[in-house]
Amino acid sequence: MKDLTACATRSTCPYCGVGCGVLLQPDGAGGLTVTGDPDHPANQGRLCSKGSALAETVGLSHRLLAPRVSGVETGWDDALQLVADRFSETITEHGPDSVAFYVSGQLLTEDYYIANKLMKGFIGSANIDTNSRLCMASTVAGHKRAFGTDTVPGTYEDIDEADLVVLVGSNLAWCHPVLYQRLMAARQARGTKIVVIDPRRTASCDSADLHLPLTPGSDVALFNHLLTQIDARGFMGTEFLTHTNGFAEALASAQADDITVTGLDPDDIATFCEMWTGTEKVVTIFSQGVNQSTSGSDKVNAILNCHLATGRIGKPGCGPLSVTGQPNAMGGREVGGLANMLACHLDIENADHRAAVRDFWSAPTMPETQGLKAVDMFRAAGDGRIKALWVIHTNPAVSMPEADAVRDAIAACPFTVVSDITARTDTARLADVLLPASAWAEKDGTVTNSDRTISRQRSVLPAPSQARADWDILCEVGRRMGWTSAFDYQSPAEIFREYAVLSGIAARFGKDFDISGLSDLNAAEYDALEPTRWPITASQQGGRFFADRQFFHADGKARLLPVIWRSPATKTEPRYPFRLNTGRLRDQWHTMTRTGLSARLSAHLPEPFLDIHPKDARAGQIAAADLVEVHSPHGKAILRARINADVTRGQVFAPIHWTGETAPSARIDTVVAAEVDPISGQPESKASVVNVTRFNAAWYGFAVSAREMSPTCTYWAQSPTKSGFRAELAGTDPVPDWQAAARNLFGLPDAEVTAVEDAGRGVARLAFHQNGQLVAALFISPEPVAVMRDYLATLPQVPNLGLLSGRAPADMPDPGPVLCSCFDVGVNTILTAIETHGLMSVEAIGEALQAGTNCGSCRPELAALLASTQQKEAAE
Ligand code: SF4
Repeated sequence: MKDLTACATRSTCPYCGVGCGVLLQPDGAGGLTVTGDPDHPANQGRLCSKGSALAETVGLSHRLLAPRVSGVETGWDDALQLVADRFSETITEHGPDSVAFYVSGQLLTEDYYIANKLMKGFIGSANIDTNSRLCMASTVAGHKRAFGTDTVPGTYEDIDEADLVVLVGSNLAWCHPVLYQRLMAARQARGTKIVVIDPRRTASCDSADLHLPLTPGSDVALFNHLLTQIDARGFMGTEFLTHTNGFAEALASAQADDITVTGLDPDDIATFCEMWTGTEKVVTIFSQGVNQSTSGSDKVNAILNCHLATGRIGKPGCGPLSVTGQPNAMGGREVGGLANMLACHLDIENADHRAAVRDFWSAPTMPETQGLKAVDMFRAAGDGRIKALWVIHTNPAVSMPEADAVRDAIAACPFTVVSDITARTDTARLADVLLPASAWAEKDGTVTNSDRTISRQRSVLPAPSQARADWDILCEVGRRMGWTSAFDYQSPAEIFREYAVLSGIAARFGKDFDISGLSDLNAAEYDALEPTRWPITASQQGGRFFADRQFFHADGKARLLPVIWRSPATKTEPRYPFRLNTGRLRDQWHTMTRTGLSARLSAHLPEPFLDIHPKDARAGQIAAADLVEVHSPHGKAILRARINADVTRGQVFAPIHWTGETAPSARIDTVVAAEVDPISGQPESKASVVNVTRFNAAWYGFAVSAREMSPTCTYWAQSPTKSGFRAELAGTDPVPDWQAAARNLFGLPDAEVTAVEDAGRGVARLAFHQNGQLVAALFISPEPVAVMRDYLATLPQVPNLGLLSGRAPADMPDPGPVLCSCFDVGVNTILTAIETHGLMSVEAIGEALQAGTNCGSCRPELAALLASTQQKEAAE
C-alpha cells in the first residue's frame, strides 16, 4: 500500500469536536484520498465512518458556484456591493442593533474573528451568535460560573488514564466515535469502568458497566445526591476545598434536593455513588444531553461541584470534559462568536475589556451589552426588529427549535444574505443574496477541538468557479462599508497573528486563553503549525489547567454553585403525553448537506424515524413500520415508527438530520419548543412535549431510481444509493393512475413499463426500462410496503426476472440495512454469518466479514447484534 504520510497534506476532519487529523491527497481530478493522520494527538490515525467517507462528499454536484441575487446569478462585485449597501442603509436608518449575523461552528477561527470584529467593533452591535448556542452555551456558562472563565480543564489523555469514565447525556459511540474508540482501548488496557447516564439506551451503553436511564432533565438531582454522598462518606478533597468557595451552600442545596425525581433504582444510584467516590481517577464526559436543557447551566455546575469538592480536577486521569459537537465550536467560543462574549474570553459587560478590544482594533464603537442569542435573534427577525440578517454556513430554518416559525421569520426579514457551499438548503432557498463559499477541503485556517488543541485546516483543492473563503467575503463587505484599513487582510495567517496578539492582551486581564506565543508566526510557520494545545505563551505550552489550583475568579478560587433540580420547561399533559428527545445518528452530520451525498453513509439509516416503547406503541395502535405523526403546539412531523425498548415509556426519540430537501414532513425541530436555559440561552432540544398518533395513509410506496426523484406526496424521504436513489413514500389521497404518477415521480415520460396492478387491493408494482436497462421501480401497497429494500437499492443490478416480487432470488440474498459503512456489510449478511459459522465475538465477525475492522464505529452495534442473537438462542 502506498505510504500517504510522505506526500499527503495534513488537515482536520470538518465534522465533530474530536478534531481528528486527516491526511489528504488530491487525485488530480477534483477528488481526494482521505486517511487518518497517525501523528495527530486527537486520533492517532483513527477515523470514524463519517471521517472515512469524507472523500465522497467533495464533488461539485450540489455546489453553489456563483453569487445569486433574488435567484439570478450575478458577479461578486454587484452581490457584495448590495450586501454592504443594504447593511449600511439599515444601520443608518434603524441603528446597529437592527442587523445580525448568525454564524456556525463550521467556520474556521480566522473567519469567526473577522465576523466578530465586523459586527462588534465596527457595526457596533453584539448581534452575532453562532449555532454553537445550540451546542455548548450551557457549558460556557457553567465553566464561567465555576472557574471564572470558559476553561476546559481536561485533555483527551485523561480518558486514557482514567479508571472510571462517566458519560452524561453523551452517546459518545455515535457522536464522538474516535474518542469512544479511545475509551474502548483504555478499557481493554486498564479495565476502565464506564457509567452511562442517559434517559435512552444508546450504542454507548453496550460497553457500560452501569446505565442510569434517568428521567429527562433530572441530572442536577443525581449529581446533587452524589455531592451529599461525597460529603457523607468523607471523600471531600479537604485541602483542595481551601481553593474554592461555596461548598457549604452547594451542599445545603444538594441536601435539599430530591433524588427520587430521577426515577432511578436506588440500588443503581448507590452503585454509581460507590463507583464514583471509590475511584480516584474519574473523568466525567458530558455533551448535549446536559447542555440542551432549560437547566443546562445548572447541570454543568452540578457536575463541576462534584469534581471540585473532591479535587478530582487538574490531575492526570481526572476531571470534567465537555465534548463539543462541531469542529470549531471551541474556536468560536474563544474568538467571541457568541453574542455574550468578546474575543479571547473577554467580557462584553466589562468596560476595561471593551476598551482594550476597541483600542486594539482602533474600532469606532463597541457594544456595551450582550447581543441577541440565537432564539431571540430569530424572534427579532420575525417581529421586525432585525431588518438585515446574514446567515453563514448553517441552516436555521431546519435546525432551530420551532423551525417553522424560524423559517417564516427568515422569509419575513427584509434582507437576508446566506453564505454557503450549496443553494440546496431550506435556509438558502429563503435568501435574497446567496454567496458561494469555499468548502472544507478548499479552506485554510485553524480550528480548536474539545481539548483545546488548535489544528490547521489546509486547502488541498482549488475553490471551484467563483467560490471564495469566508474571511475574504466578510473583509470585502467590511471594506465596502467604509472600514478599509481595518479589514485589509491578505491571508488567514495575518488574521491569526492579530488574534494571537489580542489573546496576549486578554491574558493581562487574567484570562486563560492566551496564544500570544504564536503572534510572530510567519507565513511558512503558520502553514507548518503542528496541532498545539493552548495556552501557548513564551513560557507555557498546553498542559492541564488547575494543576496549580489557581482559578480565574478575582480571588483565584473556584466556585461551587448551589443548584437544585428543575423540571423541563414544558410539562406533559393529556394532549401532549410524550417527551421528545432529539439527537444525532452515527453516519450523518447536521442537516446532511455533506454526509447526505454519500451513498455509503446514507445506507446506515436511510429514513427518518421515531423510536417508541412497545407498550406506548400498542396503546396508540401503532405497528412496526407504520408512519406516525408527532404533534406539538409548534408544528407537526411525520416519521417511521421504530418500536423498541431503547426508550422508556412516555419518551420518544427522533434524529435531527432530515430537511425540506430530503424529507420535508420529517423536520423534527418544527415540533421542538424554543424554551431556553435562562443563563446560557441554550434551547431545550431533548425534552419537548408532544403527542404521537398513527398516520393514516391511503397508500404507502417504495421507489428506486437511477436518477433523483421528484416526489410530491404527503410523506417522502429520499436518499442516495450507489446506483441512484431510493425513496419511501406515502399519501393521504387515492391515486387514480399509478403509471402516470410514477412517470412524474421518475421523470420518465416515455420509458417502457412493466406493471402488475390490482386496483381492488390497492397494490401496484411498476418497473421502467430504457435501452433494455432497468432504470426505476415503484412498489405501492395499502400497508407499509414489504419488499427487500437493500436488495432493490442495488438497481440496475437487480435482474428483471422476478423484480416485481420485490424479493431477492436465492442466489442474490438481501444484505439488509448497512451496519458497517466502511465495508458495506448489511445486517442480514452479519446475522447469516453468525448463524452459519457460529461467530461468538465482534473480532470473529471482523475476521469473517471485515465488518468493524476499519473505523470501528459499528462495533457497538455488532456487539448488540451478537448479544441479541445469543439471547434468542438461549431462549430457544
Ligand atoms: Fe471526524 Fe469522526 Fe473524528 Fe469526529 S470522530 S472528527 S466525525 S473522524
